[in-house]
Amino acid sequence: VLASASPSSAVPSHILHEVFGYAAFRGQQADIVDHVTAGGDALVLMPTGGGKSLCYQVPAIARHRAGQGVALVVSPLIALMHDQVGALEEAGVHASFLNSSLTGEDAMRIEREMMSGRLVMLYAAPERIATPRFLAQLDSLYERGLLSLFAIDEAHCVSQWGHDFREDYLSLDVLHERYPNVPRIALTATADELTRADMIERLQLQDARVFISSFDRPNIRYAIVEKDNARTQLLRFIGDEHEGDAGIVYCQSRKKVDETADWLVSEGLNALPYHAGLDASVRKRNQDRFLREDGIVMVATVAFGMGIDKPDVRFVAHLDLPKNIEGYYQETGRGGRDGAPADAWMTYGLADVVNQRRMIDESPAGEEFKRGQRAKLDALLALAEAHDCRRVRLLDYFGEASSPCGNCDNCLSPPATWDATEASRKALSCIYRFHQNNGQRFGAGHLIDVLRGKVTDKVTQYRHEGLSTFGIGADLSETQWRAVLRQLIALGHVRTEGEWNTLELTASARDVLRGEVQLLLRVPSETKGRSKGSRGA
Ligand code: ADP
Ligand code: ZN
Repeated sequence: VLASASPSSAVPSHILHEVFGYAAFRGQQADIVDHVTAGGDALVLMPTGGGKSLCYQVPAIARHRAGQGVALVVSPLIALMHDQVGALEEAGVHASFLNSSLTGEDAMRIEREMMSGRLVMLYAAPERIATPRFLAQLDSLYERGLLSLFAIDEAHCVSQWGHDFREDYLSLDVLHERYPNVPRIALTATADELTRADMIERLQLQDARVFISSFDRPNIRYAIVEKDNARTQLLRFIGDEHEGDAGIVYCQSRKKVDETADWLVSEGLNALPYHAGLDASVRKRNQDRFLREDGIVMVATVAFGMGIDKPDVRFVAHLDLPKNIEGYYQETGRGGRDGAPADAWMTYGLADVVNQRRMIDESPAGEEFKRGQRAKLDALLALAEAHDCRRVRLLDYFGEASSPCGNCDNCLSPPATWDATEASRKALSCIYRFHQNNGQRFGAGHLIDVLRGKVTDKVTQYRHEGLSTFGIGADLSETQWRAVLRQLIALGHVRTEGEWNTLELTASARDVLRGEVQLLLRVPSETKGRSKGSRGA
């Protein structure tokens, strides 16, 4: 029964029409499918929504129809496995998954289907692959020529440099070592150069053909604004530009999701919350409404979005800073999948920088891993502080050269900059003077008061009006000082420590103090210092 189908039914374009009902392959899909169907290895870098699934599904069907047996698809996302297998079965393709959600009986039944070679595709979680039992089954299939293809989805999980490292992916090199003749296709939406090199090495894809699709999403307009009053800014953004549109608002914590959703509702918007702390039934109901109804604003943590394929999301807003550029790109990428204009809008402030740095510092991870995370955060902060084209920077991060896009905030209204070198030196000197005073440390609020020469209780208590740096920064507003500090922390010249986020100089602060580093800052769009300090610019 295995190879009974007529030869034409195994032709990729035929499968695309007949099984999936699509008229044509998109972008590089055709090349990838041909290469893999013919038995070649491939590394596919394609942005979210680009159509990665067909790149292994069509070859799997083609090779099955040519009598080559079962394709193994490794995926870390159980929800995604579910959806894909459901869709394939509906299209008449015999597919299944093996993961921890199954009963023993179901698992046995699926294994039988696999061993008979009748199954076209088997989805499995990475932790299953390297188990002796599963390898013995693969051995048997291999010996009978019934192992047609390995597809490794979310392949960046194999890299410590990726944002989503999974230990279990490391054992996937066994596939190549044990079954050298089976073609492999590894796919990911997010890989900077370091991660890419790591994937090739760890998955032994040195001989694989690499397919890189452009990561550009030209219809998405990127904007990053300084945080002033984030809620009000959000409401104004939605009211001015997206009344009645579907959108996603990302927040970092569950609590903030709940509060923000409540608040938007009280302001008359059609908003729903989504995070892992909600009942599964509530999550499902909210997600279904978001997908089916028009104009719902989903307020969510990053738990929302994986595998959500809603084409007409008109905006993605971030009230908190994502962890890194991969996260930012993936989350904003959920807007405008239909190709019509969409906004990626983020508010960003000093507290975001401090929080993200602290989360890394306090995580139980090893030092090397933390260093990687810090480097990734720095790249995101540089994007947030940029005064040139956001898209150029974003694409550059993914290894793609481009020119100013004309469709980001910085291109559309180039921000004015001011030379903050002198101001930075003043701030650093003041932190240094605090240290000299019995090694005392203070947070940003107090530092700014001292710089601006404000006599507060705390100033009096510590006799800081006597410091040589007291009042040397009266020419700048509080907002400007916050921007200076944010940049100093973002650039790593100042660190924050402990529960009170006290400020501390790092080794590189010395270069700034010596005047060896020039700092150019954006002029804040809305200056709302609490006092009437003049704008030094
Ligand atoms: P990715 O995994 O890269 O994020 P998917 O494989 O989920 O992307 O595909 C995204 C969407 O595009 C899906 O709805 C899919 O059905 C659709 N799609 C993919 N390829 C094609 C094509 N050649 N023609 C039409 N629609 C396609
Ligand atoms: Zn631009």
